[in-house]
This record gives sequence, C-alpha cells and structure tokens, in this order.
Amino acid sequence: MNKIYMVDLHGQYRRIKTEIDDALQICLDESQFIQGKQVNTFSLALQSYLQAEHVITCGNGTDALQLAVMSLNFDRGDEIIIPAFTYAATAEVVALLGLKPVWADVDEKTFLINPDTIERCITGKTKAIMPVHLYGQAADMEPIMKVAEKHGLRVIEDNAQAIGAQYTMEDGSKSFTGNMGDFGCLSFFPSKNLGCFGDGGAVTARDPQLATICKQLANHGQSEKYKHERIGINSRLDTIQAAILQVKLNYLADYTLRRQEAAKLYDTLLSGIEQIAIPYRHAKSTHVFHQYTIRIHNGSRDRLKQYLESKGIPSMIYYPIPLYLQPAFMDKQFPAGTFQVAENLCQTVLSLPMHTELSIEQQTFIANNIQSFYQA
Ligand SMILES: *Cc1c(COP(=O)(O)O)cnc(C)c1O
Repeated sequence: MNKIYMVDLHGQYRRIKTEIDDALQICLDESQFIQGKQVNTFSLALQSYLQAEHVITCGNGTDALQLAVMSLNFDRGDEIIIPAFTYAATAEVVALLGLKPVWADVDEKTFLINPDTIERCITGKTKAIMPVHLYGQAADMEPIMKVAEKHGLRVIEDNAQAIGAQYTMEDGSKSFTGNMGDFGCLSFFPSKNLGCFGDGGAVTARDPQLATICKQLANHGQSEKYKHERIGINSRLDTIQAAILQVKLNYLADYTLRRQEAAKLYDTLLSGIEQIAIPYRHAKSTHVFHQYTIRIHNGSRDRLKQYLESKGIPSMIYYPIPLYLQPAFMDKQFPAGTFQVAENLCQTVLSLPMHTELSIEQQTFIANNIQSFYQA
C-alpha cells in the first residue's frame, strides 16, 4: 500500500504530468510570466465553469477576500459578521482594513454559520456578512441573503473550500457557491480542490462596477497604466499558475466526484463505530469534500489522532482554537464560553485524509485502525 497523505499532490500531478509539463513548457518558451495570455484564458474558462458574472484573478485566496472587502469602501470601525469557526484569513482581512469582526456561532451539524444567530449580531454599524462554505458545503445562503436584504448588508462568500458546490433554493433553482452573495472568494492553494503549484486566487463578482473596482484594486488601483484611481495592492495570478489551473480545471468535475466517492466509502466503513459521527449533509447543498471531518463524542479525539499517527495515518484538526480566543483577535466582547458550538467543535472535530488519489485499500486501512482503536 502506498504511503497515506492528507493530500497527495504528487500523485495527482503524475496522472496529468504530460499535459502540465507541456503547458509549463509553453509558458517558459513565451516567457510572459506576468499577465501572459494564459491568465485571461483561465479567467474566462473559470467564469464559464462556475457560471459567474465576473472573475478577477489574484495572488491568493486571502487577497481575494481583501479585494472584495476593500472594494466596498467601508468606514473604519464598521462591523462584519463572520462565523466563529473558520480559518484565520476570513477575519484577518477584516481586521487589517480597520473593520471589526463580529462573530456568529455555527450550526452544530453542518459546522456552518447559523442564519438564526446572524440577525442577533446586527448593530447600526454592521455592513456585511461573510459566510464561509467550510469543508466543501454551502452555508445556508437563502436565509442569509434574506437577512442581508432586510438590513441592507453586503455578502462576501468565502468560497476557498467549496469550489463547484451547488446550493438549491426553495424554488428549486440551483446556484454555485460564490454566485449568491455580492462576491465569492476562491483560493487555488495547492491543497484546495482546484489547486495550483504555488499561490493563486480569484474573486467572483455579480456587479460589473464592483468587479471593475476589484480588478483595479488588484493592480495598484490603476484604471489604466499609470492612472491610479484608488489605493490598491499588487495581487496577480502568475501566468504559470494560470496555465496549470487551466489544465486542472478540465479535471475539476472528476476530482469532485472522486472526493465524493471517497466520502461515501468512508461513510460506509465508519458507520458502525458509535464513538464517531460521519459528516452531516445539508439537504440544500452538494458537498465537494474539501475535508472529510468526523466528530468524536467521548473525549478521545486527541488519543485517536495519536494512535492513527503511530500507524502511519495522518489526520488534522481544522481548527483547534476558535478565532475569537486567539491572541490576535481577543476582544472583551467575546470571552471564552461565548460560542458553545464553535468551542465544542474545536474539541471534537478530526479531518481524515481526503484527496483525489485515495485508494480503497488505504481507506479500509484507515477505517480498520479507527475501529481497532475503539475495540482495544
Ligand atoms: C485557504 C483558505 C483561505 C485563504 O486562501 P489562501 O490562498 O491560502 O490565501 C481563506 N479562507 C478559507 C476558509 C480557506 O480555507
């Protein structure tokens, strides 16, 4: 059996090596390393794949979030509602821009921002909601959009973990994550579902004017060369990364399917183990399984993790500490104990190896070891 990784980037590369190598060779021959034609080609392909109105490629997923927030031109001290259980990048850009992260607890089953708690967080200074489609499943966007409309708030979807996931509205219509709010923010970090070979990101936008502003902001605020409309940043998707992403985009549907099939197999293999809960599926969203995250109810999570490690099985805790309890984000308004669900999740979640190259043999080995840990 091959060594088990959380993510097998090399294995994934090997299967498409010829295509990738050819695309890279073209980039090297052309030597248009910045703003080469591959960037625009990929941007258009992504727009069509996601049925997005506008796509602005940029340097990474964190920049995508920053560009979206910057384009809305909020005032210092304005408040943005963020799930209490997410990756740091979501809140980081808010704080960096002088805005205040206001946390909302997540749903016990889906781990996603709870629409019922959002309304209670709204004050006169609230300007936006940033739902995160954590682990590959869409936040409950329809009620979130209703709250946003009612209070005139912007919605920025952190779509770094859920590219290609679809949400079903009450009327039966479907929408890709990132297309329901004002913006969707994507990361092409190597381990993401669509990953490049370095850093990369993109903003999807609905409004043409906001899309134009984002595009200018990503390029030093320029509307044309040496005409600076606003203070921007330098955030570009490299030509080489765009060329790699163009190749891999053709495999994204297949990659998603492989992840979903691996998830289904885990479900079957793990369903008999009463100490753990397999990932809950929200009826309104497909799940693209950026992570396959189980919950362990009897306080044995850390011991299980160690046991698996001793058997050569990696696993990860995404995320061990809620952001509002991190030194960087401490705020008297949110002491320990404020968000019971988020704090409980930090103690009980465990993400198992999940990628496009997992074999049945590997998954069976992982499940058997979890079983034997609880039988011992
Ligand atoms: C990966 C990730 C980001 C940031 O993406 P980078 O490309 O690493 O900057 C933001 N939010 C979430 C939820 C992520 O998983």
